[in-house]
Formats: sequence, structure tokens, C-alpha cells
Amino acid sequence: MKLVFASNNKHKLSEVRQILPEQVEVVSLKDVGFVQEIEETGATLEENSLLKANAVWEWLDKNRLLGAVDGVFADDTGLEIAALGGAPGVRTARWAGDEACDVNNRQKALRELMGKEDRSARFRTVVSLIVQGKTQQVEGVVNGRIALQEEGNGGFGYDPVFVPEGYEKTFASLPTEVKNAISHRGRAMEKLCEILKKENNI
Ligand code: IMP
Repeated sequence: MKLVFASNNKHKLSEVRQILPEQVEVVSLKDVGFVQEIEETGATLEENSLLKANAVWEWLDKNRLLGAVDGVFADDTGLEIAALGGAPGVRTARWAGDEACDVNNRQKALRELMGKEDRSARFRTVVSLIVQGKTQQVEGVVNGRIALQEEGNGGFGYDPVFVPEGYEKTFASLPTEVKNAISHRGRAMEKLCEILKKENNI
């Protein structure tokens, strides 16, 4: 089975390729020649994830590429910090500003929680899958806390400041296999896999 992952993020691509079974070939937007920007204008992770999956599905259909691939999936992730009322949530990617990079975003997380006792947070990922025109959504959540300082060189995004529940190290310090087994994306991918097994005989 061949699925387009509506992303060009090499870290995410590498994670989903490691998590999904080898019967599922995952190709990126670049691999299929999709080069336009998809504006994430939704008010929720659910809306943004669906918006991305739909945009790619419609493009594949228009370009008569639906015979070459079996479907598409897109993910949208939010960091939800309890002491900040669930912020940054849907604004996670651009929390420190439209031009902000990962470092700016992580520094903002550390700054916003300075002096706060409750550092609990969670990552939530919503994945939208479209196969044969049928759309389904799954969610993956990992609870944890924001570390007191950055730690580790692995992963991407907020990984150096996120410590998953039950661990003392950040996602960026834990081995990739550990992150993938317990992460928001890993859990959403497991559910995606159950759907593919049940409905598409992978
Ligand atoms: P998006 O889902 O690609 O829109 O990502 C939203 C934001 O969450 C971006 O700032 C990403 O860097 C961050 N993000 C997504 N997944 C992860 C992850 O697994 N670890 C750390 N940060 C992540």
C-alpha cells in the first residue's frame, strides 16, 4: 500500500516510516510533485489536519495520480500547556511569531512557565486519512511536562523541552524508538495502522 504523507518535514517522515509497518510505503509531498503551500487556516487541529489531507487528495485527483497511490494522510500537532489554559494549541508552530523557528518557540515555552509550579503539558496529534474517498480521523496524546531547561539533541520542534510522563528525560534525550513508542504521533499512527489492517488488509 502506498500513502502520501501531507508533509515535507524530514523528521516527521522519518518517524512515521519507522512506526508504520513495511507494507505501507510512505511518500512525501515532494515525492509526488506537490509543491504549493497549504495554508493552515483552521481553528482546531482537527480542521487543519483535514484541510491538509483534503488539499492533497483533491490535487492528486485533479492530476490523475490517484491510480498511482492508495491514499493520503496528514497530521497536525499541538502542544497544550495546562497553566496557560491549553496554549499554544493550534498556534504551536507559530507561537513565537510568524517567522519564529523551533528555538524561539522553545524559549517562549520556558519563558511563559518561569516561576510557575504547574508545568504539565501534553502533545496532541490529529491524523486525517483519506483512502478511496473515505475520510477518517484518529488522535494520539502524550502527557508530560515542560522541562526547566533545554536538554538533548535528538528529535525536533519542542522535543528538547518536553518530558513525557513516566520519564526523567526529554524526548530529545530519549532514543527515537522510545519516543515513537509513546509519543502523540506514535499513538495516532498505531490507530491509523489498525484502520489500515481492518479496512485495507495490509
Ligand atoms: P505541525 O503539526 O507540523 O503543524 O507542528 C506544529 C508544531 O508542533 C511545530 O512547531 C512542530 O515543530 C511541533 N511538533 C510537531 N510534532 C512534534 C514532536 O513530535 N515533537 C516536538 N515538537 C513537535
